[in-house]
Amino acid sequence: MQRDGNKSGVKRTADEPAAASTSAPVETDKPPAGVTPSMAQFLEIKAANPDCLLFYRMGDFYELFFEDAVAAAQALGIVLTKRGKHLGEDIPMCGVPIHRADEYLQRLIRQGFRVAVCEQLEDPAEARKRGSKAVVRRDVVRLVTPGTLTEDSLLDAKARNYLTAVFKSGKGGRQAQVALASLDISTGEFEVGEVPAADFPGEIVRLSPGEVIAGDTLLADADVGKWIDIARAAATPVAAASFDSMAGERLLKTRLSVGDLAAFGAFSRGELAAVGALLKYVELTQLGKQPCLRAPRRTGPSNRLIIDAPTRASLELLRSLSGERQSSLLGVIDRTVTGPGARELAARLSSPLRDAQVIAARLDAVGFLLGNELLRDDARTSLRAAPDIARAMSRLALQRGGPRDLAAVRDGLRAAGACVRLLRKAASGIGLPNALQRIASSLAVCGTDLQATLEQALIDEPPPLRRDGGFVKAGFRADLDEARGLRDDSRKVMAALEARYLDATSIKSLKVRHNNILGFYVEVPANAAKPLLSDPLAQTFRHRQTMAGAVRFTTDELIEIESRIVASAERALAIEQDVFAELSAAIAALAQQLGELAGALAELDCEAALAQLAAEQAYTRPVLDDSCAFEIRGGRHPVVEQALKAAKAGTFIDNDCVLVTPRADHPARFDEVAEARVWLVTGPNMAGKSTFLRQNALIAVLAQMGSFVPARSAHIGIIDRLFSRVGAADDLARGRSTFMVEMVETAGILNQATERSMVILDEIGRGTATFDGLSIAWAVVEYLHEVNHCRALFATHYHELTVLAGRLGDVANVTMDVREWKDEIVFLHKVKPGAADRSYGIQVAKLAGLPKAVTKRAAEVLQLLEKADRKTPDGEALLGDLPLFASRPVAAPALSTISALEQALAEISPDEMSPKAALEALYNLKGLAAKDRT
Ligand code: ADP
Ligand code: MG
Repeated sequence: MQRDGNKSGVKRTADEPAAASTSAPVETDKPPAGVTPSMAQFLEIKAANPDCLLFYRMGDFYELFFEDAVAAAQALGIVLTKRGKHLGEDIPMCGVPIHRADEYLQRLIRQGFRVAVCEQLEDPAEARKRGSKAVVRRDVVRLVTPGTLTEDSLLDAKARNYLTAVFKSGKGGRQAQVALASLDISTGEFEVGEVPAADFPGEIVRLSPGEVIAGDTLLADADVGKWIDIARAAATPVAAASFDSMAGERLLKTRLSVGDLAAFGAFSRGELAAVGALLKYVELTQLGKQPCLRAPRRTGPSNRLIIDAPTRASLELLRSLSGERQSSLLGVIDRTVTGPGARELAARLSSPLRDAQVIAARLDAVGFLLGNELLRDDARTSLRAAPDIARAMSRLALQRGGPRDLAAVRDGLRAAGACVRLLRKAASGIGLPNALQRIASSLAVCGTDLQATLEQALIDEPPPLRRDGGFVKAGFRADLDEARGLRDDSRKVMAALEARYLDATSIKSLKVRHNNILGFYVEVPANAAKPLLSDPLAQTFRHRQTMAGAVRFTTDELIEIESRIVASAERALAIEQDVFAELSAAIAALAQQLGELAGALAELDCEAALAQLAAEQAYTRPVLDDSCAFEIRGGRHPVVEQALKAAKAGTFIDNDCVLVTPRADHPARFDEVAEARVWLVTGPNMAGKSTFLRQNALIAVLAQMGSFVPARSAHIGIIDRLFSRVGAADDLARGRSTFMVEMVETAGILNQATERSMVILDEIGRGTATFDGLSIAWAVVEYLHEVNHCRALFATHYHELTVLAGRLGDVANVTMDVREWKDEIVFLHKVKPGAADRSYGIQVAKLAGLPKAVTKRAAEVLQLLEKADRKTPDGEALLGDLPLFASRPVAAPALSTISALEQALAEISPDEMSPKAALEALYNLKGLAAKDRT
């Protein structure tokens, strides 16, 4: 954009309504000598922030000009107007009022804009002192981007908002590593890790950042771009040079105030490069202000259950396939009562652990809180009153905080104190499990002094804005009390003055009033003003302004008292600002401890919520060890179970799943479910195969995140990688072959699954022709069994696959039990040993309400096909012989044969039969049924 040193074309009449109203000049009739902001200043600032919308502060508005105005008006649906001219053209303009700025910012950020917020850096009165044409100093104080938000109104209380820097190192191929450094500047949560390039998609979806920064070339990589999109992150390219590992190391040491990073584990060059870019971008957007930075958590692939991106989506861990939280696993297990607790739960769910001992420590805590209902209830009550300390501290650190953020810390300390007392009380005699012990000591880590100060200093419910004052309690500072006393006394004097003037002038409607421009003045209706305009009263009352219906005056006394009020109010305000700064500093000095305390509150909320869930939903404690067991007895699907309950649509049928190699000394009983590492699950559509598969994966995730599980019992050998895929028909609407996607993903599984992994494949191969699909499914099962040796559940509608159970030692068949009843099908949702005898597709179609004529016709075609040579499933020849559907009237079913069977059934009265007679009747029925079919 071209600079323009000329007089500005941008004008705003009410430009700078004096921020401190009471200091407005009194002696003129004109509007305040508003300073016209110069176009040069605007253009210069805009030129420095070309990729952002510029929110340009003018008085009580943020205004946008030129292209910014056009874009913002469109995005926000607000009026686009024009203001002045630039190079002979109208200047498009739109504006948002300060008090609604957050709301508009949020909408712009959601739509992918970045916003530079340009503030007035001095009081307009200051500028005026430099001459009437002087420009109020302004500059950008902050860039608002999706990954650098701090306001509660811009953030989701229950979701973390990471800014993640991504750096790819190595030469590509299998060796390539991707380093990720993530910081939530709204809380200071910080994590750094490196994964093999193949695991990048799962990692980026796990982190789900608000914004990703990376070098141009990496972002240009279609695959990387696609996964960033899927993770719903905004992508911001940054210069490759900012990924500088030396600078990263230096910045990190400075920010953590350490001379050596060893205490946080060894960082790779790639990780430090990512950290470097991250911290640099934070400086850039925060214009040098320092957000809180907690000690980095190291997240390597070795200490977590690795879940790739498609598995995360397919299991609907944090979001359902349609994108909401509500019906996801997180949505149904969340019993937390605070935002930070909900974030902790989401973090645990997206990063289940892999160390049986660490998991056991979490389970101990949940178990303790489950067993101690009183403690659980009381702690949750205290937690409900705990504000989001981490976010409040972050705003304070970035000098964006208000009195409510100070109060948040105070109330958080209060809640922490209450929780510590509860935990100590519960511990007496029996002690606490380690995790709770650690939480208790973090909650007590700081604070009684700080809390006492905050309690004494702040009123109970302070106002939101620091600049208005009025948040410091009376009695906290003598000088403040004195200034406020003077101010209030003078106000009383002012009130007395009004009474005196009323008396002296006998004008009943005389009033002393105040506005921002004139300050205090005497007002009388126009028709009563005359006496004041002539002597002797005119000696006292000097005319200031004539309005439509009123005339305004000032007096010496008025000015004198006003200046006393202004002076004492200003003094009071200044003292409050002092107090604010002192309290902020006291909080900043304890940032590390308070961060720990905030984390402990979140953890306690999370543990208590999991205990609450276990109590409500009758979950049990899983047993985790380093075996390769997977033995779930009476398992349930956490989401479907609660949905059924909520809809009062019956109870969920529980099922066993035992994926263990059978021991020679303990052969499975024939009526028990099979024991084998790989289960082939067959059964008609709607029988519950997918539900069964998924519930076992979800139970594994819950167990390894340290939650109790929906089962009668669960014994799980720690899983290193979890895979879940659902085969799908081609999704042409989205312009890609999902069969291709399915195969790519299946390849990923076969290449990555180890013998510690768990694999769930639901109808893989469905997206292609029957024989192709069957052959692929066949080969995949063989490969999983022979090469991967993982635990696997494989649902299929290819009955042909069930012969594999006989050929492969560690493969067993199970099927979903169904009953046929008068040609209808009833789903029992119960897993039983064996294979489904057929697919019941036509019965299911009937249930779905396909027209009778169609299902009947389908039954005929099926009969023919089944008679045909199995090697020609197309049955072309046979089908050629079938009379055409349209040419044949739809015949009624052969009622007579059905009646014969029904007749026979009706004649049976089981209660009166001997076992022998019953057996005979059964043979008779079978005979009749066989006749029916031919
Ligand atoms: P499939 O994959 O065999 O076609 P689904 O797993 O999709 O079947 O299940 C179909 C429906 O049956 C589900 O929507 C669910 O409501 C119900 N269902 C499945 N399993 C159970 C169960 N164990 N108990 C109760 N209802 C179930
Ligand atoms: Mg299914």
